[in-house]
Amino acid sequence: MRDRIDIGGVSVSPDHFIGGKRVSSPRTFETRCPFDWDRKLADISLGDADTANQAVEAATKAFPAWAALCQAERSAHLHRLADLIEERKNDIAMVECLDMAMLLESLQLRLVPRGALNFRNYADLAAEHEERVWSSKGTANRVIRMPAGPALIITPWNAPFMLSTWKCAPALAAGNTVILKPADWSPLSASVLADLIAESGMPPGVFNIVQGGAEIGNALTSDPRIKRISFTGSVPTARIIGRNAAENIVPFTAELGGKSALLVFEDADIDAAAKKAAGQYDDSGQVCMAGSRIIVQESVREKFLERFHHYADQHVLGDSFDSATTVSAMIHPIHVERVLGFIERARAAGDTIVRGGKRWKEGQNWIEPTLIEPKSNDSEVVQSEIFGPVLTFQTFATEDEGVALANSTAYGLSGIIYTGDAARAERVGRQVRGGTVWVNTFLVRDLTAPFGGIGISGIGREGGDYALDFHSDLKTLQILEGSVRDCS
Ligand code: ADP
Repeated sequence: MRDRIDIGGVSVSPDHFIGGKRVSSPRTFETRCPFDWDRKLADISLGDADTANQAVEAATKAFPAWAALCQAERSAHLHRLADLIEERKNDIAMVECLDMAMLLESLQLRLVPRGALNFRNYADLAAEHEERVWSSKGTANRVIRMPAGPALIITPWNAPFMLSTWKCAPALAAGNTVILKPADWSPLSASVLADLIAESGMPPGVFNIVQGGAEIGNALTSDPRIKRISFTGSVPTARIIGRNAAENIVPFTAELGGKSALLVFEDADIDAAAKKAAGQYDDSGQVCMAGSRIIVQESVREKFLERFHHYADQHVLGDSFDSATTVSAMIHPIHVERVLGFIERARAAGDTIVRGGKRWKEGQNWIEPTLIEPKSNDSEVVQSEIFGPVLTFQTFATEDEGVALANSTAYGLSGIIYTGDAARAERVGRQVRGGTVWVNTFLVRDLTAPFGGIGISGIGREGGDYALDFHSDLKTLQILEGSVRDCS
């Protein structure tokens, strides 16, 4: 076992959490603070095939007893974990802030409490579930949710705590045991979660957390003892995982980001639309649902741009402890280079860089909030997910043209529409391709609603009963009516 490390005053283990115990790997990988890159935070145990095997063994061994618990008992465990998350909210926020650079205040007020809520919601939802019961063709029918087995959850580096809890909670509530593998660029908040799992008294092996990247990821996704895979990340990785899942005939959900439109009609509240558009630079645009393509009706172009620049000018780039900061540092220099590459290629191809377009300060992980007016809709910056503080700006004349532009990429995660016309809100809301479409608002989420992507934005739906169904083997039980009697 490696020594625990002080991360901003919080003691964090650099090791995996398997079968209720800390487990080391011989190799490590380092994690650094995105807004203070010289500050190395920790050397973290790097999982491999052996680690994967240990984790799957623990999850497999713990499964029958966890699956056999009554729902009220499982829900009590999840509520206890939620209580501990609430108690340690500030510690989790501090660790995630240093590791991933999300704003401390937003973590404390919004994202970490949402992690607790994820466990509470699923504890309650699973407990309140009523089996569908009906009579047909002389038989009494019931649909029963059966726990499926060990579930593998693989999460990305952005919003790691919130996303991990959002994906693990339904698996546990459904009666599955879990192996969580957080991303190697922001693994630390998951290690705090492991401490809370241990403290909560959840039986060993029910909830395991392992660290590393593609090597352990491959070993886990190809293990036939894994019965569900829930992934959020990139399209290329989803293809690899999908092939492994196919080999073992294992259900697999994937949420793969987007290139969502923020569509503004002339009848909208233009000031509100422009403010929301400039708000897409929050978290340096490292948000899968971001409306990164701003598409505005030609008649309000100048009015919109004036308001947009007004709000964009108010952004404050800075470190994530400072409550004045609105644009946090980007996760990693490799990612900064990747995003700068998009901007350079756009410039070379003749797209117009309307604002920003370069690093904020040399050698640091910020890029100025950037707006690009592309030469054509085929431009790379329009068609590819950039995942940085880079927005594109396009205009349209008619409603049909606006919708066509909104739907002109291979992605379909979300959409944002600004209009004051109720009929248009309904009509365009139905037409815009996306698993979630907001009208005159953004990021307001009801946790029972389905969430997921269309096209290359993903497969399957998470949220509410949709995730509980995914993590269950649904069984139809039919008993011939009148053929059995109560013998108790
Ligand atoms: P991103 O571009 O957002 O980093 P990735 O798809 O590379 O997206 O990473 C998302 C998650 O998938 C991370 O936890 C990462 O470690 C994991 N991952 C990367 N490669 C593999 C793989 N071959 N098998 C399983 N998981 C992987």
